[in-house]
Amino acid sequence: MEKNGHACPGCGRDDLVQAVPAAYLAGRDDVTRRERNRDGDVRTVTRRVTTALSEALAPVPREPTYGLGVLGVFTGFVSVAAFVGWVLLGKAFEEVPDGVYFGEPPSGPDPDFSFLGRISGLALCVTLLVVVVLVRRRGEFVRLTRGRERAEELWACGWYCHRCGTVHLRDLPEEDVRPFSLQEFRERVWERGGYGELAARQRAIG
Ligand SMILES: [Zn+2]
Repeated sequence: MEKNGHACPGCGRDDLVQAVPAAYLAGRDDVTRRERNRDGDVRTVTRRVTTALSEALAPVPREPTYGLGVLGVFTGFVSVAAFVGWVLLGKAFEEVPDGVYFGEPPSGPDPDFSFLGRISGLALCVTLLVVVVLVRRRGEFVRLTRGRERAEELWACGWYCHRCGTVHLRDLPEEDVRPFSLQEFRERVWERGGYGELAARQRAIG
């Protein structure tokens, strides 16, 4: 690691001090390697590998997951399939003219497929609900992290010491120069961005 010419206030050594953005990016790699699958074919796979340190140094919270989208796709499919079934089955029974049956004509009223219409409607409602929830969740995240640029300004002045596992700030006269734990550093950066309350829930574990 290149020497940065200033000592860590935690351990007094300068040999393992690295700028926070560099330490953060170094821990996020797209690793491409060749793998053999179950059939014995060799293929190239790229995976994002993030170290715990990089995760702990993130300037913004994790984006919410959108696993609910799978449910939306499923109910969307059910809605369309039930609708098509409703229309086609309804038509098939309408088109049989009276009196062409061989043998006994079926007794009783035509079968009622309206339940398919109800299933389709219900599934459509669930799909729309999922879409609304996902759009709102994404909107909330964007709104919440609106101040990320301010957070990143402070973040970019952080230095991580690989020897004692602390972060200190430099070139910021108004800021404390003592070494911070990863969690303390996160709290400062996220508070600057306006989403400090999330630091308590998403703790930095380096
Ligand atoms: Zn140190």
